[in-house]
Amino acid sequence: MSQSIDCLVIGAGVVGLAIAKNLAESGKEVFVIESEDTIGTQTSSRNSEVIHAGIYYPKNSLKAKLCVEGKKLLYQYCQDRNVPHSRIGKIIVATDLAESAILKDFLKRGLSNGVTDLRFLEETEIREMEPALKFESAIFSPSTGIIDSHNLMLSFQGDAENKGAIFAFRSPFLSGEVTRNGLLINIGGDDPVSILCTTVINCAGLKSPNVAMNIKGCPNELIPRPYYGKAHYYTLSSKNPFKHLIYPVNTSSTSLGVHVTLDLAGQARFGPDITWIPNLDYDFDNSRESMFYEAIRKYFPQLKNGDLQPGYTGIRPKISGPDSPAADFCIQSADDHGVRGLINLYGIESPGLTASLAIAEHVTKLC
Ligand SMILES: Cc1cc2nc3c(=O)[nH]c(=O)nc-3n(C[C@H](O)[C@H](O)[C@H](O)COP(=O)(O)OP(=O)(O)OC[C@H]3O[C@@H](n4cnc5c(N)ncnc54)[C@H](O)[C@@H]3O)c2cc1C
Repeated sequence: MSQSIDCLVIGAGVVGLAIAKNLAESGKEVFVIESEDTIGTQTSSRNSEVIHAGIYYPKNSLKAKLCVEGKKLLYQYCQDRNVPHSRIGKIIVATDLAESAILKDFLKRGLSNGVTDLRFLEETEIREMEPALKFESAIFSPSTGIIDSHNLMLSFQGDAENKGAIFAFRSPFLSGEVTRNGLLINIGGDDPVSILCTTVINCAGLKSPNVAMNIKGCPNELIPRPYYGKAHYYTLSSKNPFKHLIYPVNTSSTSLGVHVTLDLAGQARFGPDITWIPNLDYDFDNSRESMFYEAIRKYFPQLKNGDLQPGYTGIRPKISGPDSPAADFCIQSADDHGVRGLINLYGIESPGLTASLAIAEHVTKLC
């Protein structure tokens, strides 16, 4: 391997992979380093696997823009490349009058973000679509879907490799410094190496702020403080009665509430909740169980004791804490921090999977 390179991508989650693919396809020399021994073992394989429509995010935010654009790009990509997915649609269900009023706001917010296909469902439609659902009213998002995220990541990796990108696993970023000739990056692992890079894209997910802190010359005051929002998912052990994704009305900006997601095999899972944690750990805390039963029974009263089984956890890479509204995606380039060739991605929580191809286009334009 040469000791200098065009583009170094740090992190092989869905976002780093999409960026590596786009950069390699645009003719750049691309090298991807990943500290784990394979792609997508962190947040990218610990989420709801939902292709979001783009309803909830504040107007003109990067989340709204990149989600709506990313959704279109992702459906097209899945179709072209045979990535398993299904546009099954999502029902957002209000269980009382106060929640029904909030549904009207969701409809307006969705419209202002360019989600033009949302509509209120008639009572008879809801009963036909989801007989097990308890509701006061509901809206339907036909463009929401589900995806096999691992298959997607493998496809991105394959595309990047076909255009010459090189992947190095068990190769953690250790430190870096801004030099007159580019960014000098020190990489650990079995064969530690230092590489001079014209462009470095930091998509280390939960660790992005730590990576940036360890690049000498990157202004510390612009690096956001990381917060970790842990999520639990339970699986349904009894027969799944749902055909669509079911989301409750949720007014918190930190999480979308305990919803029903379906995988492509039709298995239902419920989640995620949110617990703020000081350090990264994926342990499953089963004391959340009673809260899950209570939240789910509001819209699925037939749920019986014993129906929920511990599933898995994930951690949201947040850059705003519990007392603040959810921050937007934060993508900083030289225009923000003054370091030529350095692009830092922070806070790429939901809808980062949906937005991955749009984030990649956005970043490619910055390179
Ligand atoms: C509970 C939950 C539910 C979600 N649900 C959805 C959803 O339904 N739909 C949706 O669109 N989005 C969803 N998301 C968001 C989505 O999962 C993320 O936005 C996306 O996976 C982020 O990808 P990433 O590549 O930025 O991060 P990651 O997948 O975390 O990848 C970062 C990579 O960097 C590597 N890395 C870290 N440090 C270093 C280092 N020093 N050197 C080298 N490599 C390093 C890590 O090992 C990792 O592989 C959800 C997120 C969570 C937490």
